[in-house]
Amino acid sequence: MAQLTPVLTANWGDDKPWTLEGYTASGGYAALRQSLGMDAGDLVSMVKASGLRGRGGAGFPTGMKWGFLPAPDGGPRYLVVNADESEPGTCKDIPLMLANPHVLVEGVAITSYAIGCHHAFIYVRGEVVHVYRRLLKAVADAYAAGHLGKNIHGSGFDLDVTVHAGAGAYICGEETALLDSLEGRRGQPRLKPPFPAVAGLYARPTVVNNVESIASVPAIVTGGADWFTSMGTEKSAGHGIFSLSGHVTRPGQYEAPLGITLRELLEMAGGVREGHELKFWTPGGSSTPIFTAEHLDVPLDYESVGAAGSMLGTRALQIFDETTSVVRAVARWTDFYAHESCGKCTPCREGTYWLKQVLHRLEAGDGEEGDIDTLLDVCDNILGRAFCALGDGATSPITSAIKYFREEFEAGMHTPASELFPPNRSALF
Ligand code: NAD
Repeated sequence: MAQLTPVLTANWGDDKPWTLEGYTASGGYAALRQSLGMDAGDLVSMVKASGLRGRGGAGFPTGMKWGFLPAPDGGPRYLVVNADESEPGTCKDIPLMLANPHVLVEGVAITSYAIGCHHAFIYVRGEVVHVYRRLLKAVADAYAAGHLGKNIHGSGFDLDVTVHAGAGAYICGEETALLDSLEGRRGQPRLKPPFPAVAGLYARPTVVNNVESIASVPAIVTGGADWFTSMGTEKSAGHGIFSLSGHVTRPGQYEAPLGITLRELLEMAGGVREGHELKFWTPGGSSTPIFTAEHLDVPLDYESVGAAGSMLGTRALQIFDETTSVVRAVARWTDFYAHESCGKCTPCREGTYWLKQVLHRLEAGDGEEGDIDTLLDVCDNILGRAFCALGDGATSPITSAIKYFREEFEAGMHTPASELFPPNRSALF
């Protein structure tokens, strides 16, 4: 029987876990004191040895990313926390920052010390004003307690932290667009390389990490790399927050070792809503190819999900039962990508527009002969040709949905989705 591994979520049920007092009572900031007594290079080695991989979706090894920073040259280097969580279905960083903002602040302080940064930024989605306010309060309280600021706990290490609210553009979650936005420009992705580790914020070496990645650091310091690798699989170590949403009895955040399966998570979440059965699901948000009931036992680690034809992504498990029209769901996601495309590159800007037109007529039952081929052809012309991952992500639900549910797209040439799958109050799409 699979077990949950609450670490980041362990104190969510406590009395006011978001306060400095609440966090300190559960052992908070002990890892920072411990870290300040360590050699910075040893901290980087520890995170490398833990096998922690970027929790924002791509799974790039965190310690290796820190190690890419060039040798100090006397100029500034930055840590930027990507708290612009916006992937459809993804809801882990926002609840984490609401319930436990200090674990992020502590992770920021430890990481900054490890990489030699004296000014860190937390870039949070502008729409989530409540989270922004909570972070501002947590940072202010951390300064007052001496966890941030000058000469932290007498170590001689100085750190300032700025919380910055974006203006609500999905593209600003792309790390280089985020940096442009933070610099005060319109957020659009930059060409990589150079990667931010070499030339990031204000063209200085910058580590950009996801909220959950940075929040995982304090526990790795106190628990040790071996403790972290004792969870998960050999190449996908540790714990992660899996967000279950949609047609599930108890939606929410389930923190579990990587490699757990959807079948096991659904058992803990009370299963698909009563009287219904699983039709399709996303393993990592809408930018990852969909899965079906045949994938219930795929271990949710980077390697296994990849081998099964999708991506672990943000572990946003959106569950859809048999009442859902896959054409309607894919059309809604495509509306999102077309709206959020920043317009910088032609394949994404024009491609998402045309995908939307074709999907809308298929949804309405007005599809034309050849529409499925047109969809696949446009996807083929976006995939690998767009400037950033947004374009690729837009194609994933479409090509995978056609692979598993082609007959529903064919039906769109004569029958509206609303007739085949009447919208009802409990239908998600
Ligand atoms: P990526 O694989 O290009 O890069 C991942 C990270 O590794 C980046 O920080 C990048 O700078 C670093 N990196 C990669 N190669 C490097 C190198 N040679 N040298 C130095 N650094 C290097 O992925 P990406 O485009 O940053 O992100 C795509 C992912 O974002 C998708 O997998 C998706 O799941 C996820 N995503 C998440 C959200 C969300 O809300 N959390 C939204 C959309 C997409």
